[in-house]
Amino acid sequence: MIKVSIQNFDQYLEPQDLSELYSLAAKWGNRAKIIAGGTDLMVRLKQHTCKPEALISLRKIKEMKTILPTDDGIYIGSAVKLHDLISSPVIREHYPLLVEAASKVGAYQHRLMGTIGGNLCLETRCMYFNQSEFLRGSFTPCLKAGGGKCLVVNGQKCYAVYSGDTAPALLVLEAKVRIGSLAGERHTRLANLFSGDGLTPISLKEGEVLTGIFISKEIATTGGTYLKLAERSSTDFPNLGVAASITLSDDRICQWARLALTTAGSSPFLVDEAENLVGAGKLSEDLLEPILNQTNKLTIMVKNKTTSVGYRRAMVSKMVRAALEIAWEKAGNGKGCC
Ligand SMILES: Cc1cc2nc3c(=O)[nH]c(=O)nc-3n(C[C@H](O)[C@H](O)[C@H](O)COP(=O)(O)OP(=O)(O)OC[C@H]3O[C@@H](n4cnc5c(N)ncnc54)[C@H](O)[C@@H]3O)c2cc1C
Ligand code: SF4
Repeated sequence: MIKVSIQNFDQYLEPQDLSELYSLAAKWGNRAKIIAGGTDLMVRLKQHTCKPEALISLRKIKEMKTILPTDDGIYIGSAVKLHDLISSPVIREHYPLLVEAASKVGAYQHRLMGTIGGNLCLETRCMYFNQSEFLRGSFTPCLKAGGGKCLVVNGQKCYAVYSGDTAPALLVLEAKVRIGSLAGERHTRLANLFSGDGLTPISLKEGEVLTGIFISKEIATTGGTYLKLAERSSTDFPNLGVAASITLSDDRICQWARLALTTAGSSPFLVDEAENLVGAGKLSEDLLEPILNQTNKLTIMVKNKTTSVGYRRAMVSKMVRAALEIAWEKAGNGKGCC
């Protein structure tokens, strides 16, 4: 029988507020891991793919667990549970796209425990790395396991895949993130949270914590959708995820268009070409073609998932097209005549 033991750590720390959190994060630096819901981190501790000396829990920090309407939009604390986000009347009314994406994360139990911040800060995944220590031991260690090269491409770059479901929805909603540390706070576009590097996918500096997310109310009225390709509709990480957001005027002219993907590389990404739809009266093939071409160019898929690259690649164009069509249709409901 194979015995699975959890990675040892010296300290479990429970700061009561943000200033205590920042002090602990500064003191422990990269020797500690933040634990929010723990639904991803605990698996990694069991697989011994991360070996922190301390865990810093967000459980007791009230200000990180609130959803707060502001003058210009909404603020979501990063320790808000996905289930609470999905159930929030204000989020349901103004940001149904975020509700749709968050509802597709894992199973009910993951959403009960898992947080929006933990979902955004997910580590990248690869079938050669995200395995028990026993199974991983049967491979030569790859770059991410401290070895000399990637087992998939036989080279010096890690192609582990970012697989969070809510990131593309928040990218098309042009979310900004609040990042805090002992040195102060900074705000930046969500896209800047992702490095694109499979080895260190989240670009937080040592001692920094993601404290919250802002969405402006300017973009609260668009038609949007999040389509997820997965082997099973519950519990599985995406094989591909596509979010689209469209706003049409009363005479059905496109005022706003955004498109973003997850599980199509080591970071989620926006496809800027989607903005070329602004001013169009319909979703024509001529307009779709450059968007599909650019999405395919930005997509990086290698043989590190159980599903074939050919299948996942083939689904990119199909899902982008479908997501834009659904978002357009939703945005157009009740607007002008057809
Ligand atoms: C069987 C299974 C299926 C899953 N399916 C899906 C799925 O379909 N889609 C999906 O998106 N996810 C999935 N997950 C992953 C996970 O459940 C969710 O992503 C969840 O939202 C993670 O949130 P958490 O609060 O539990 O994160 P944690 O596990 O607590 O943390 C995740 C990572 O983020 C870091 N972190 C957490 N909060 C912060 C913060 N505020 N600042 C800085 N770093 C932080 C942690 O240090 C850790 O590295 C699945 C997990 C399992 C075990
Ligand atoms: S993509 Fe390559 S380096 Fe990265 S985790 Fe997988 S095998 Fe390791």
